[in-house]
Parts: sequence; C-alpha cells; structure tokens
Amino acid sequence: MSGRLIVISNRIPMGDAVSGGLMVALHDALAASGGIWIGAHPEAGQADDGLEEVSTAPYQRLAFRLSEIEMHDYYLGYANSVLWPLFHRRGDLVELRPEYEAAYRRVNARLARIIRQIAGPDDLIWVHDYHFLSLAAELRAAGVQNRIGFFLHVPFPALGDLSVLTHPERFADELAQFNLVGLQTRSDVARCLEMFRADPRAEFMPDGSVKFGHRITSVRSFPIGIDTAGFAAEAEKAGPNPFGAEEPGRFILGVDRLDYSKGLPNRFKGFARYLETRTDNARACLLQIAPPSREQVPAYQEITRELEEIAGHVNGRFAELDWTPLRYIHRPIARAKLARLYRRAKACLVTSLADGMNLVAKEFVAAQNPDDPGILILSRFAGAAEDMTEALLVNPYDIEDIAKAISCALGMSHDERRRRHAACLEVVQRTDVAQWSATFLGTLTTCPYPREFSDLL
Ligand code: ADP
Repeated sequence: MSGRLIVISNRIPMGDAVSGGLMVALHDALAASGGIWIGAHPEAGQADDGLEEVSTAPYQRLAFRLSEIEMHDYYLGYANSVLWPLFHRRGDLVELRPEYEAAYRRVNARLARIIRQIAGPDDLIWVHDYHFLSLAAELRAAGVQNRIGFFLHVPFPALGDLSVLTHPERFADELAQFNLVGLQTRSDVARCLEMFRADPRAEFMPDGSVKFGHRITSVRSFPIGIDTAGFAAEAEKAGPNPFGAEEPGRFILGVDRLDYSKGLPNRFKGFARYLETRTDNARACLLQIAPPSREQVPAYQEITRELEEIAGHVNGRFAELDWTPLRYIHRPIARAKLARLYRRAKACLVTSLADGMNLVAKEFVAAQNPDDPGILILSRFAGAAEDMTEALLVNPYDIEDIAKAISCALGMSHDERRRRHAACLEVVQRTDVAQWSATFLGTLTTCPYPREFSDLL
C-alpha cells in the first residue's frame, strides 16, 4: 500500500489501552501503515469541522464532536432507532422522524468535508458500519476519488425490509459509491446482490462486481473474528475463581449487551422449559451477564423490564434455599474474568434473533480446554453459524428447541464434545481478526476501480 490507511468508525479508543478484538485489529493495521483513525468523541460538544487529537503514536487518532442534538437525532435516533432495528429485522421498532435522517446526513456530510481536508491521493479509506452508510456518497460529492471500502458489522437487510426507509431508493445508490462493500457472511452478500439485481440502475460485470452509473462496486464476505491466540492465552492463565466460594455446580453462560436482537427472553424461557422437562434432578444454573446499552432508547428500557420480569418468574418457580437457577448480572465484566468464566462453563448460549457475526460465540470456543471443552449452543440467525456448523445450532424462536439443546449439551459424551469443539476451533483460528483486516485491505487495494465510465468499455 503506497498511501496511508484512514479508518472511520463511530467509536475510537480514547485512552492508551486498546481492548476488544476489532479495536486491536484496527490498531494493528493502522500501526503497520502509519495511518489515521477518526471517530466520534464520546462527549457532545461544538459540532464544527474541527478534529481533536486523541493520540499520535504510532498513528494519529482524531475525534470529531457531535452536538447534543446530533447525539440524540443521529446516534440514538437514525443510527440506533432506525437502522439498527431495521437491519436486525425489527421493522416494528423503527422510529422514522425527518429530523433523525437530516442529522444523519448532516453528520456524514461534515465528516466528508473533514476527511477531504486530510486525505492524500493515495490514502485508502476504510469506513465502518451503519453509522456512515452515506459517507462515500458525500466524499464523492466533495471530489474525493480515493479507494473507499465499507464494512458492515451487522446483518444486511432483506430487500423487502428496506422499504421501511423513507428513501429506500437512496440506499443502493449510496452503497455503490464505495469501491468495496464487505459483509459478514455469504448470506449477507446474497441479500446485497439481490438488492442491486432489483435496481434497474445496476448492471453486473463478468467478475460479479456491480456497475452502478460510472462506478464499480465489489461485494464480498469477510467474516470477522477475534484475537484467537490472545483470548485463549487469557483464558488459560491461572487466576482467582471468578465466583469466589459461590461457584454453581454446572453452569451455562450467556454474555451479551442487553439488546433486543440477542433473543434473551426466549433464552430465559428455554432454560425454564429445560428445568421443567429435565429427567434428572441436576441443578444446572444459567449465568447471564448482560450489561446495559443504549438506555435512552425506549425499546431498550422495555427489554430491560421484560427480562427482569422473566428472571423473577423463573427463580420464583424453580429456586430452592440452596440453589438459584438463574443468575442475571446487569453489569460489564473485565475481559480477563470473562475469559475464565467462559472456560469454566459447561455450555454457552447464543440465541440472537439476528446478529452480524456474534463474537461471544468465537470467544467461548477459543477459551475452552480442548481436552474437556464446553459446548456452544448457537442461533442459526447469528452470522457465526454459517461456518461454525458443528456448534449445537438452534432456532431461537423455538423455546422447545432451546430446552432440548441445553439438555443435549449437558448430557453430551466427552468424545462428541471434543469433536464438535475441534471443528468450531478450526473455524475460529482460520478466521481470526488479523486475517480479517488483512484480507479486507488486500481486496480493497486490488478490486477493480475504473475512475471514468470510458474505462469500462
Ligand atoms: P455486539 O457487537 O452486538 O455487542 P458481539 O457478540 O459481536 O455483539 O460482541 C460483543 C463483545 O462485547 C464481545 O467481545 C464480548 O466479550 C463483549 N461483552 C459482551 N458482554 C459483556 C460483558 N458483560 N462484560 C464484558 N464484555 C462483554
């Protein structure tokens, strides 16, 4: 790569410590090319074209400010009350308001002006996620001709669902301004191509890329991963028992941001159904860790209330003086402790109703002892299920199916556990986060890029 890498993501690490798989992968990619990382400052401020330096070595980290109104209308509003529910198949939760979309466009346009000031002609621009769908269109309008890649971390919506948007016809147009659209799974790619196929303005090139006006866009899947070796090493480290003296005999673990897309009510009900139908008297425990997120959005307040209610019911019905079957912790947990918890669990429940990839599934597999591994129970609707076919795949809408999978995981033979875990681990090792960013950037550097229509003839 001759130029620098410029990464745009909603969040950027503010301090010296860079943690979390994606953050570390982007940090490494930037450190290697000496680039720039631009993201929104977590605190609202003066919404102007200025950038604040967050750190300088070994690459620049720069933050732009959102105003209070933009935090509300752009971030909580259009990004998280329109696009997030829409992309996670919850059209019923979409809140369309003209001021939300206006703020989204304003923020993307401002960011485009900012990037135009700093991008050199050979710099590669890598835009992350649904917060910046219209950024390439704004950059092109501002005259930026650089290679621009986009990676969508969440599922790509079905064609029919896009009609929920006020201007659904803009969606394909704006995506086609990127040179490369990266998606999590092959199913996401199929849905994206279906959208282009249905658009009379799009044509398909012999190599499968999409010609839209005078632009060509490649659409590919790049399943994201974790820092597999690092996470496994963390889990193997000896450390204090995270439970102290209160370790439950056998426990199943759930770890999720508290979000309606994670299928938590059905998970709790599936566990209750397992308790109701189990044929032994074994006292399994479900430990659910679900820190709050986006608490200002009403749909998140509603799911929080619903979960507390179901958790109360389950414990009310099954708990004994010396047994709490459902432990529900509404707080984040330090990563080292989390890694040790994963390793001690007999099973991990991932029951997302829709999920781009689901990194918890990969972290759980990486953290296991291969000689005595726990079992991953994984929703068919998580991107991770496309390749991790040896997990116990479940339909998260089907409570009976979840109950049966819990019973199957807890009773599974040692041989079968080892076989299933080895197959899942192979996937997690092969698709780790370093190869994810390297493959994406390699493809962005080499994908077809005719700058003029005449180049296509
Ligand atoms: P999403 O991006 O939708 O939140 P993922 O499963 O892809 O879902 O990623 C979640 C990340 O957040 C994982 O790295 C996971 O370890 C971390 N995480 C989730 N819940 C907690 C928690 N309670 N404490 C600490 N980290 C958490």
